[in-house]
Amino acid sequence: MADIIKLLPDHVANQIAAGEVVQRPASVVKELLENAIDAGATSIKLIIKDGGKSLIQVVDNGIGMSATDARLSFERHATSKIQSAEDLFNLNTKGFRGEALASIAAIARVDLQTKTANEEIGTAIEIEGSEIKSQEVVATPQGTSLAVKHLFFNIPARRNFLKSDAVELRHITDEFHRVALAHPSIAFNYYNNGSELFNLPESNFRQRIVNIFGKKSNEKLVPVNEDTQVVKVSGFICKSEFAKKSRGEQYFFVNNRFIKSHYLHYAVLAAFEGLIKPGTHPGYFLNLEVDPSSIDINIHPTKTEVKFDDEQTLYAILRSTIKHSLGQFNVAPTLDFDH
Ligand code: ADP
Ligand code: MG
Repeated sequence: MADIIKLLPDHVANQIAAGEVVQRPASVVKELLENAIDAGATSIKLIIKDGGKSLIQVVDNGIGMSATDARLSFERHATSKIQSAEDLFNLNTKGFRGEALASIAAIARVDLQTKTANEEIGTAIEIEGSEIKSQEVVATPQGTSLAVKHLFFNIPARRNFLKSDAVELRHITDEFHRVALAHPSIAFNYYNNGSELFNLPESNFRQRIVNIFGKKSNEKLVPVNEDTQVVKVSGFICKSEFAKKSRGEQYFFVNNRFIKSHYLHYAVLAAFEGLIKPGTHPGYFLNLEVDPSSIDINIHPTKTEVKFDDEQTLYAILRSTIKHSLGQFNVAPTLDFDH
């Protein structure tokens, strides 16, 4: 029989990889915001049109890219963030896979403008379906602007699968909240169809929560602080009287990265046991600082799940810390479920 195995062309491989990284406009938003943060930006603008279907643009004032790097950034496995697999266990960047821009450029039209601090003139690149359409010099401020247009233009099945603009916008806003909460010291502006949805000045964590969720949230917050050998816990839980029927604001950040963890979620619930009515949900905004070598982020392409070396200890610490804070600050009487 004749040989039948062929290597997939790069643009096909990129399209396939894109399926994993980019489910919907919100996934693009997450990747672009994270790149801006990794670039050291102190101010980041997010501009959306039509729920991200026609435009997702992120403008940052970070370090920018040289002309060569700008071109390279769209190659698969091209990254400035790690050099070896060992670096994965000492990460202080959001990104490391070198896949996001290659994936996004494979399934959309991307306009990049970027300039570094020590260059006079910047670089503009247009790329569509992995193909570079133009590269020019351009006058642009220091930093990077990345505009993603017509997402999934060449994958109609995916495009048809997208929900209404309003639903996609909600997913984008969720992603924006997660990133903005993880980085209160960075200023963010967020626009949709020309109107400003959020203007978040540089602030501390409490102010950032209040700026996002409204002034009323301030009185709900109970501080949590605990420093152990294994983990430093900081942030806020919401007083038990504010527990809601719907799962409201529940956030874990591990080393400034939003993560989902059922296990740690149950640690929080365990601390609230007896204080909230069954079927209601407590709010929490919790930062966990751990040694980067004690976690593995590289278990899913979207990096929202983390494997901890010692989950049980984290559970115990979280539960007792939160119980302690609730005991100190919670003014609500213990609910008596018998009546
Ligand atoms: P990763 O973030 O995993 O390295 P990406 O595909 O997201 O992979 O980005 C590839 C590279 O492009 C990054 O490593 C970085 O060097 C560069 N880059 C991407 N976005 C920006 C940005 N906003 N500012 C400066 N450099 C960027
Ligand atoms: Mg990235």
